[in-house]
Amino acid sequence: MDYDVVVIGAGPGGCGAALSAASQGLNVLVVEKRQEIGAPKRCGEGLSRSSLERMGVELDKRWVNREIMGATVYAPNGKPVRIDYKDGPEGWVIERKIFDKFLARKAAKAGAKVLAKTEALGLIKDGNKITGVKLESSGETWDVRTKIVIAADGVESKIAREAGLDTTLKLVDIASSAQFEMTGIDIDPDRMELYFGWEIAPGGYVWIFPKDDDTANVGVGVRKVWTNRTALDYLKKFVDSRPGLKKGSIIEVNSGGVPVGGLMRDMVLDNFMVVGDAAHQVNPIHGGGISEAFVGGKIAGSVAAEAVKRNDFSKQFLERYNKLWWQERGNKLNKILKLRKVVESLSDEDLNWLAEFLTGNDLIDFSRSEGLKKLAQILVKKPKLALLARKLL
Ligand code: FAD
Repeated sequence: MDYDVVVIGAGPGGCGAALSAASQGLNVLVVEKRQEIGAPKRCGEGLSRSSLERMGVELDKRWVNREIMGATVYAPNGKPVRIDYKDGPEGWVIERKIFDKFLARKAAKAGAKVLAKTEALGLIKDGNKITGVKLESSGETWDVRTKIVIAADGVESKIAREAGLDTTLKLVDIASSAQFEMTGIDIDPDRMELYFGWEIAPGGYVWIFPKDDDTANVGVGVRKVWTNRTALDYLKKFVDSRPGLKKGSIIEVNSGGVPVGGLMRDMVLDNFMVVGDAAHQVNPIHGGGISEAFVGGKIAGSVAAEAVKRNDFSKQFLERYNKLWWQERGNKLNKILKLRKVVESLSDEDLNWLAEFLTGNDLIDFSRSEGLKKLAQILVKKPKLALLARKLL
Protein backbone atom coordinates (compact mmCIF):
# COMPACT_ATOMS: atom_id res chain seq x y z
CA MET A 1 0.00 0.00 0.00
CA ASP A 2 1.28 3.51 -0.81
CA TYR A 3 0.77 6.50 1.47
CA ASP A 4 1.49 10.21 1.26
CA VAL A 5 2.62 10.22 4.88
CA VAL A 6 3.51 7.51 7.40
CA VAL A 7 3.56 8.80 10.99
CA ILE A 8 5.53 6.73 13.50
CA GLY A 9 4.06 7.00 17.02
CA ALA A 10 0.53 7.93 18.11
CA GLY A 11 1.27 10.26 21.03
CA PRO A 12 0.21 13.90 20.83
CA GLY A 13 2.97 14.63 18.27
CA GLY A 14 1.94 11.85 15.90
CA CYS A 15 -1.77 12.56 16.29
CA GLY A 16 -1.24 16.29 15.62
CA ALA A 17 0.72 15.49 12.46
CA ALA A 18 -1.81 12.92 11.26
CA LEU A 19 -4.77 15.17 12.00
CA SER A 20 -3.43 18.12 10.06
CA ALA A 21 -2.14 16.07 7.10
CA ALA A 22 -5.35 13.99 6.80
CA SER A 23 -7.58 17.09 7.18
CA GLN A 24 -5.83 18.50 4.12
CA GLY A 25 -6.68 15.43 2.07
CA LEU A 26 -3.51 13.37 2.44
CA ASN A 27 -3.48 9.59 2.60
CA VAL A 28 -1.99 9.04 6.08
CA LEU A 29 -0.99 5.96 8.10
CA VAL A 30 -0.17 6.23 11.82
CA VAL A 31 1.53 3.27 13.51
CA GLU A 32 1.81 2.85 17.28
CA LYS A 33 3.85 0.04 18.78
CA ARG A 34 1.92 -0.12 22.04
CA GLN A 35 -1.24 -2.18 22.16
CA GLU A 36 -3.18 0.70 23.66
CA ILE A 37 -2.69 4.32 22.64
CA GLY A 38 -1.92 6.54 25.66
CA ALA A 39 -1.23 3.67 28.09
CA PRO A 40 0.72 3.27 30.22
CA LYS A 41 1.11 7.01 30.64
CA ARG A 42 4.49 8.62 31.13
CA CYS A 43 3.12 11.95 32.21
CA GLY A 44 1.97 14.08 35.16
CA GLU A 45 -1.09 14.81 33.00
CA GLY A 46 -1.08 18.57 33.62
CA LEU A 47 -2.43 20.72 30.80
CA SER A 48 -2.90 24.49 31.03
CA ARG A 49 -5.69 26.43 29.34
CA SER A 50 -3.17 28.31 27.20
CA SER A 51 -1.64 24.99 26.05
CA LEU A 52 -5.03 23.60 25.10
CA GLU A 53 -5.86 26.79 23.20
CA ARG A 54 -2.56 26.56 21.36
CA MET A 55 -3.43 23.01 20.32
CA GLY A 56 -6.79 24.20 18.96
CA VAL A 57 -8.52 21.26 20.66
CA GLU A 58 -11.90 21.75 22.34
CA LEU A 59 -12.23 20.89 26.03
CA ASP A 60 -14.01 17.57 26.55
CA LYS A 61 -15.06 16.46 30.04
CA ARG A 62 -14.42 12.82 29.12
CA TRP A 63 -10.66 13.24 29.56
CA VAL A 64 -10.69 15.73 32.45
CA ASN A 65 -9.94 14.31 35.91
CA ARG A 66 -9.77 17.57 37.77
CA GLU A 67 -10.13 21.29 37.14
CA ILE A 68 -7.22 23.28 38.54
CA MET A 69 -8.08 26.45 40.44
CA GLY A 70 -4.57 27.36 41.54
CA ALA A 71 -1.07 26.23 42.36
CA THR A 72 1.34 26.54 45.26
CA VAL A 73 5.04 26.71 44.55
CA TYR A 74 7.30 25.97 47.52
CA ALA A 75 10.78 27.47 47.91
CA PRO A 76 13.44 25.17 49.44
CA ASN A 77 12.73 26.62 52.92
CA GLY A 78 9.03 25.78 52.54
CA LYS A 79 7.85 29.31 51.82
CA PRO A 80 4.77 29.04 49.59
CA VAL A 81 4.11 31.30 46.61
CA ARG A 82 0.43 31.00 45.73
CA ILE A 83 -1.18 31.27 42.32
CA ASP A 84 -4.98 31.65 42.43
CA TYR A 85 -7.27 31.49 39.41
CA LYS A 86 -10.23 33.66 40.37
CA ASP A 87 -12.19 33.37 37.12
CA GLY A 88 -12.40 29.60 36.84
CA PRO A 89 -9.93 26.82 36.02
CA GLU A 90 -6.77 27.74 34.16
CA GLY A 91 -5.71 24.14 33.73
CA TRP A 92 -6.70 20.53 34.09
CA VAL A 93 -5.25 17.24 35.20
CA ILE A 94 -6.28 14.97 32.38
CA GLU A 95 -6.38 11.20 31.79
CA ARG A 96 -3.76 10.56 29.08
CA LYS A 97 -5.18 7.13 28.35
CA ILE A 98 -8.44 8.76 27.25
CA PHE A 99 -6.93 11.99 25.90
CA ASP A 100 -4.40 10.36 23.55
CA LYS A 101 -7.10 8.05 22.19
CA PHE A 102 -9.38 11.07 21.74
CA LEU A 103 -6.64 12.71 19.63
CA ALA A 104 -6.13 9.47 17.65
CA ARG A 105 -9.87 9.28 17.01
CA LYS A 106 -9.82 12.85 15.70
CA ALA A 107 -7.01 11.93 13.31
CA ALA A 108 -8.93 8.83 12.19
CA LYS A 109 -12.12 10.86 11.70
CA ALA A 110 -10.14 13.24 9.49
CA GLY A 111 -9.23 10.23 7.33
CA ALA A 112 -5.97 8.86 8.78
CA LYS A 113 -5.60 5.12 9.20
CA VAL A 114 -4.40 4.35 12.75
CA LEU A 115 -2.85 0.98 13.65
CA ALA A 116 -2.05 0.16 17.30
CA LYS A 117 0.32 -2.70 18.19
CA THR A 118 2.23 -2.01 15.00
CA GLU A 119 5.91 -1.17 15.31
CA ALA A 120 8.06 0.61 12.76
CA LEU A 121 11.13 -1.64 12.63
CA GLY A 122 13.07 0.70 10.37
CA LEU A 123 13.15 2.85 7.28
CA ILE A 124 13.33 1.56 3.73
CA LYS A 125 15.77 3.47 1.56
CA ASP A 126 16.56 3.55 -2.13
CA GLY A 127 20.16 4.74 -1.99
CA ASN A 128 19.93 7.72 0.38
CA LYS A 129 16.26 8.37 -0.34
CA ILE A 130 13.67 7.27 2.25
CA THR A 131 10.90 5.47 0.37
CA GLY A 132 9.02 3.50 3.01
CA VAL A 133 8.80 1.90 6.42
CA LYS A 134 9.17 -1.71 7.54
CA LEU A 135 6.34 -2.65 9.94
CA GLU A 136 5.67 -5.49 12.36
CA SER A 137 2.57 -6.60 14.22
CA SER A 138 1.99 -9.86 16.12
CA GLY A 139 4.94 -11.54 14.43
CA GLU A 140 3.97 -10.48 10.89
CA THR A 141 6.19 -8.01 8.98
CA TRP A 142 5.42 -5.99 5.87
CA ASP A 143 6.58 -2.88 4.02
CA VAL A 144 4.68 0.29 3.16
CA ARG A 145 5.78 2.90 0.64
CA THR A 146 5.40 6.60 1.42
CA LYS A 147 6.35 10.04 0.15
CA ILE A 148 7.09 11.39 3.63
CA VAL A 149 7.87 9.83 7.01
CA ILE A 150 7.06 11.85 10.15
CA ALA A 151 8.88 10.44 13.18
CA ALA A 152 6.84 11.10 16.36
CA ASP A 153 8.36 8.22 18.31
CA GLY A 154 9.05 10.05 21.56
CA VAL A 155 12.11 10.83 23.63
CA GLU A 156 13.80 7.48 22.93
CA SER A 157 13.39 8.02 19.16
CA LYS A 158 15.48 5.68 17.07
CA ILE A 159 13.91 6.57 13.76
CA ALA A 160 15.33 10.09 13.42
CA ARG A 161 18.83 8.80 14.13
CA GLU A 162 18.41 6.01 11.61
CA ALA A 163 17.26 8.58 9.06
CA GLY A 164 20.48 10.54 9.60
CA LEU A 165 19.55 13.36 12.00
CA ASP A 166 21.68 14.01 15.07
CA THR A 167 19.24 13.87 17.98
CA THR A 168 21.82 13.34 20.72
CA LEU A 169 20.97 15.18 23.93
CA LYS A 170 23.53 16.46 26.42
CA LEU A 171 23.11 15.00 29.92
CA VAL A 172 22.25 18.45 31.25
CA ASP A 173 19.30 18.63 28.83
CA ILE A 174 17.63 15.43 30.05
CA ALA A 175 15.42 15.26 33.13
CA SER A 176 14.97 11.78 34.58
CA SER A 177 11.62 11.40 36.20
CA ALA A 178 9.67 9.01 38.36
CA GLN A 179 6.05 9.20 39.38
CA PHE A 180 3.53 7.39 41.57
CA GLU A 181 -0.17 7.72 41.01
CA MET A 182 -1.24 7.65 44.65
CA THR A 183 -4.60 7.29 46.35
CA GLY A 184 -5.76 7.67 49.93
CA ILE A 185 -3.52 10.72 50.39
CA ASP A 186 -4.07 14.16 51.91
CA ILE A 187 -3.96 16.80 49.18
CA ASP A 188 -5.70 19.97 48.14
CA PRO A 189 -7.74 18.51 45.27
CA ASP A 190 -8.09 21.84 43.44
CA ARG A 191 -4.46 22.96 43.46
CA MET A 192 -1.22 21.77 41.96
CA GLU A 193 1.80 21.75 44.27
CA LEU A 194 5.40 22.20 43.13
CA TYR A 195 8.47 21.87 45.39
CA PHE A 196 11.91 23.21 44.51
CA GLY A 197 15.32 22.72 46.12
CA TRP A 198 18.66 20.99 45.52
CA GLU A 199 17.96 18.49 48.34
CA ILE A 200 14.46 17.64 47.11
CA ALA A 201 15.12 17.52 43.36
CA PRO A 202 18.52 18.55 41.93
CA GLY A 203 17.93 20.49 38.71
CA GLY A 204 14.21 19.75 38.75
CA TYR A 205 11.18 19.76 41.02
CA VAL A 206 8.57 17.62 42.75
CA TRP A 207 4.96 17.85 41.56
CA ILE A 208 1.63 16.86 43.05
CA PHE A 209 -1.11 17.01 40.42
CA PRO A 210 -4.53 16.09 41.85
CA LYS A 211 -6.74 13.65 39.95
CA ASP A 212 -9.51 13.34 42.54
CA ASP A 213 -10.25 14.25 46.18
CA ASP A 214 -7.63 11.86 47.57
CA THR A 215 -5.72 10.81 44.43
CA ALA A 216 -2.84 12.50 42.63
CA ASN A 217 0.16 12.04 40.37
CA VAL A 218 3.14 12.58 42.67
CA GLY A 219 6.36 12.81 40.72
CA VAL A 220 9.88 14.15 40.59
CA GLY A 221 12.24 15.20 37.83
CA VAL A 222 16.00 15.41 38.48
CA ARG A 223 19.01 15.89 36.28
CA LYS A 224 21.66 13.21 36.51
CA VAL A 225 24.40 15.72 35.80
CA TRP A 226 23.99 16.80 39.45
CA THR A 227 23.29 13.54 41.24
CA ASN A 228 24.19 9.86 41.27
CA ARG A 229 20.87 8.91 42.83
CA THR A 230 17.84 7.94 40.77
CA ALA A 231 14.64 9.94 40.39
CA LEU A 232 12.87 7.05 42.15
CA ASP A 233 15.16 7.49 45.21
CA TYR A 234 14.18 11.16 45.41
CA LEU A 235 10.50 10.34 44.96
CA LYS A 236 10.51 7.72 47.72
CA LYS A 237 12.34 10.10 50.06
CA PHE A 238 9.81 12.87 49.38
CA VAL A 239 6.81 10.59 49.93
CA ASP A 240 8.34 9.15 53.13
CA SER A 241 8.92 12.65 54.49
CA ARG A 242 5.22 13.55 54.28
CA PRO A 243 2.79 11.63 56.50
CA GLY A 244 -0.16 12.72 54.30
CA LEU A 245 1.45 10.92 51.35
CA LYS A 246 3.22 8.10 53.17
CA LYS A 247 -0.06 6.67 54.45
CA GLY A 248 -1.42 6.31 50.88
CA SER A 249 -1.36 3.54 48.26
CA ILE A 250 0.49 3.46 44.95
CA ILE A 251 -1.80 2.51 42.05
CA GLU A 252 0.54 3.18 39.14
CA VAL A 253 4.29 3.71 38.73
CA ASN A 254 5.73 5.67 35.80
CA SER A 255 9.18 6.76 34.80
CA GLY A 256 10.80 8.34 31.80
CA GLY A 257 13.17 10.91 30.38
CA VAL A 258 12.13 14.41 29.43
CA PRO A 259 14.19 16.52 26.99
CA VAL A 260 14.44 19.96 28.62
CA GLY A 261 16.75 21.55 26.08
CA GLY A 262 18.58 20.62 22.91
CA LEU A 263 16.11 22.43 20.66
CA MET A 264 16.88 21.38 17.09
CA ARG A 265 17.51 23.95 14.37
CA ASP A 266 17.22 21.29 11.68
CA MET A 267 14.46 18.69 11.96
CA VAL A 268 14.18 17.59 8.33
CA LEU A 269 15.84 15.51 5.62
CA ASP A 270 14.64 14.60 2.14
CA ASN A 271 11.21 12.89 2.64
CA PHE A 272 11.54 13.10 6.44
CA MET A 273 10.48 15.23 9.44
CA VAL A 274 10.71 14.69 13.21
CA VAL A 275 8.26 16.12 15.78
CA GLY A 276 7.46 16.20 19.51
CA ASP A 277 9.74 14.74 22.18
CA ALA A 278 11.75 13.06 19.42
CA ALA A 279 12.65 16.61 18.26
CA HIS A 280 13.03 17.87 21.89
CA GLN A 281 9.94 20.10 21.53
CA VAL A 282 9.32 20.50 25.27
CA ASN A 283 9.05 23.50 27.59
CA PRO A 284 12.56 23.50 29.17
CA ILE A 285 11.50 25.05 32.49
CA HIS A 286 8.67 22.68 33.50
CA GLY A 287 9.02 19.78 31.06
CA GLY A 288 5.47 20.07 29.67
CA GLY A 289 5.40 18.59 26.19
CA ILE A 290 1.83 17.52 25.35
CA SER A 291 0.87 20.73 23.58
CA GLU A 292 4.36 21.32 22.18
CA ALA A 293 4.34 17.89 20.51
CA PHE A 294 0.84 18.36 19.11
CA VAL A 295 1.64 21.84 17.73
CA GLY A 296 4.95 20.63 16.25
CA GLY A 297 3.06 17.74 14.67
CA LYS A 298 0.39 20.04 13.26
CA ILE A 299 2.99 22.27 11.62
CA ALA A 300 4.80 19.27 10.11
CA GLY A 301 1.49 17.83 8.86
CA SER A 302 0.62 21.10 7.10
CA VAL A 303 4.04 21.32 5.48
CA ALA A 304 3.59 17.70 4.31
CA ALA A 305 0.28 18.71 2.70
CA GLU A 306 1.98 21.57 0.82
CA ALA A 307 4.81 19.26 -0.23
CA VAL A 308 2.32 16.76 -1.68
CA LYS A 309 0.52 19.56 -3.56
CA ARG A 310 3.81 20.66 -5.11
CA ASN A 311 5.17 17.15 -5.48
CA ASP A 312 8.36 18.34 -3.77
CA PHE A 313 9.64 16.26 -0.85
CA SER A 314 13.16 17.64 -0.84
CA LYS A 315 14.90 18.70 2.36
CA GLN A 316 15.01 22.20 0.89
CA PHE A 317 11.21 22.35 0.68
CA LEU A 318 10.56 20.63 4.04
CA GLU A 319 12.80 23.22 5.73
CA ARG A 320 9.60 25.34 5.82
CA TYR A 321 8.73 23.23 8.86
CA ASN A 322 11.98 24.31 10.61
CA LYS A 323 11.17 27.93 9.85
CA LEU A 324 7.50 27.83 10.86
CA TRP A 325 8.18 25.89 14.07
CA TRP A 326 10.94 28.26 15.16
CA GLN A 327 8.67 31.25 14.44
CA GLU A 328 5.72 29.79 16.31
CA ARG A 329 7.40 27.95 19.23
CA GLY A 330 11.18 27.62 18.96
CA ASN A 331 12.10 31.22 19.72
CA LYS A 332 9.86 31.25 22.80
CA LEU A 333 11.18 27.93 24.06
CA ASN A 334 14.73 29.14 23.50
CA LYS A 335 14.06 32.14 25.77
CA ILE A 336 12.64 29.78 28.39
CA LEU A 337 15.80 27.70 28.06
CA LYS A 338 17.83 30.76 29.03
CA LEU A 339 15.64 31.09 32.11
CA ARG A 340 16.22 27.41 32.95
CA LYS A 341 19.96 28.01 32.81
CA VAL A 342 19.67 30.96 35.18
CA VAL A 343 17.44 29.08 37.64
CA GLU A 344 19.85 26.13 37.77
CA SER A 345 22.66 28.53 38.74
CA LEU A 346 20.79 29.56 41.90
CA SER A 347 21.50 27.98 45.29
CA ASP A 348 18.71 27.09 47.72
CA GLU A 349 19.58 30.23 49.63
CA ASP A 350 19.15 32.31 46.44
CA LEU A 351 15.80 30.64 45.70
CA ASN A 352 14.57 31.34 49.23
CA TRP A 353 15.61 34.98 48.85
CA LEU A 354 13.89 35.24 45.44
CA ALA A 355 10.65 33.77 46.78
CA GLU A 356 10.32 36.87 48.98
CA PHE A 357 9.92 39.08 45.90
CA LEU A 358 7.88 36.97 43.50
CA THR A 359 4.13 36.61 43.11
CA GLY A 360 2.27 33.68 41.62
CA ASN A 361 1.54 35.69 38.48
CA ASP A 362 5.27 36.31 38.00
CA LEU A 363 5.85 32.55 38.03
CA ILE A 364 3.17 31.99 35.38
CA ASP A 365 4.72 34.74 33.22
CA PHE A 366 8.21 33.24 33.53
CA SER A 367 7.01 29.80 32.42
CA ARG A 368 5.74 31.49 29.24
CA SER A 369 8.98 33.46 28.70
CA GLU A 370 7.27 36.71 29.72
CA GLY A 371 8.22 39.17 32.48
CA LEU A 372 11.89 38.13 32.47
CA LYS A 373 12.88 41.78 32.81
CA LYS A 374 11.26 41.82 36.26
CA LEU A 375 13.29 38.77 37.28
CA ALA A 376 16.47 40.43 36.02
CA GLN A 377 15.64 43.59 38.02
CA ILE A 378 15.31 41.51 41.19
CA LEU A 379 18.50 39.52 40.55
CA VAL A 380 20.63 42.66 40.18
CA LYS A 381 19.78 43.58 43.78
CA LYS A 382 22.14 40.80 44.92
CA PRO A 383 25.64 41.58 43.63
CA LYS A 384 26.63 37.94 43.12
CA LEU A 385 23.53 37.39 40.94
CA ALA A 386 23.90 40.55 38.84
CA LEU A 387 25.85 38.72 36.13
CA LEU A 388 23.08 36.15 35.81
CA ALA A 389 20.54 38.92 35.31
CA ARG A 390 22.31 39.95 32.12
CA LYS A 391 21.76 36.49 30.68
CA LEU A 392 18.02 37.05 30.84
CA LEU A 393 18.01 40.22 28.78
P1 FAD B 1 5.02 10.27 23.19
O1 FAD B 1 3.82 10.71 23.90
O2 FAD B 1 6.12 9.64 23.96
O3 FAD B 1 4.57 9.29 22.03
C1 FAD B 1 5.48 8.58 21.23
C2 FAD B 1 4.82 7.29 20.82
O4 FAD B 1 5.60 6.64 19.82
C3 FAD B 1 4.69 6.30 21.98
O5 FAD B 1 3.33 5.98 22.15
C4 FAD B 1 5.54 5.12 21.55
O6 FAD B 1 4.99 3.88 21.96
C5 FAD B 1 5.50 5.24 20.04
N1 FAD B 1 6.65 4.61 19.37
C6 FAD B 1 7.97 4.70 19.68
N2 FAD B 1 8.71 4.01 18.80
C7 FAD B 1 7.85 3.48 17.90
C8 FAD B 1 8.02 2.64 16.76
N3 FAD B 1 9.24 2.26 16.35
N4 FAD B 1 6.93 2.25 16.06
C9 FAD B 1 5.68 2.64 16.47
N5 FAD B 1 5.46 3.42 17.56
C10 FAD B 1 6.53 3.84 18.25
N6 FAD B 1 3.86 16.97 29.58
C11 FAD B 1 2.84 17.81 29.88
O7 FAD B 1 2.40 18.59 29.01
N7 FAD B 1 2.30 17.82 31.14
C12 FAD B 1 2.75 17.01 32.14
O8 FAD B 1 2.21 17.03 33.27
C13 FAD B 1 3.83 16.13 31.84
N8 FAD B 1 4.33 15.31 32.82
C14 FAD B 1 5.30 14.40 32.48
C15 FAD B 1 5.74 13.51 33.48
C16 FAD B 1 6.66 12.51 33.15
C17 FAD B 1 7.08 11.53 34.22
C18 FAD B 1 7.18 12.44 31.82
C19 FAD B 1 8.18 11.37 31.46
C20 FAD B 1 6.77 13.35 30.85
C21 FAD B 1 5.82 14.34 31.16
N9 FAD B 1 5.36 15.24 30.20
C22 FAD B 1 4.36 16.13 30.51
C23 FAD B 1 5.88 15.24 28.81
C24 FAD B 1 4.89 14.59 27.85
O9 FAD B 1 4.45 13.34 28.35
C25 FAD B 1 5.56 14.42 26.48
O10 FAD B 1 6.20 15.63 26.14
C26 FAD B 1 4.56 14.07 25.38
O11 FAD B 1 3.93 12.83 25.60
C27 FAD B 1 5.29 14.04 24.02
O12 FAD B 1 4.45 13.57 23.00
P2 FAD B 1 5.07 12.78 21.77
O13 FAD B 1 3.91 12.42 20.89
O14 FAD B 1 6.21 13.52 21.18
O15 FAD B 1 5.72 11.46 22.38
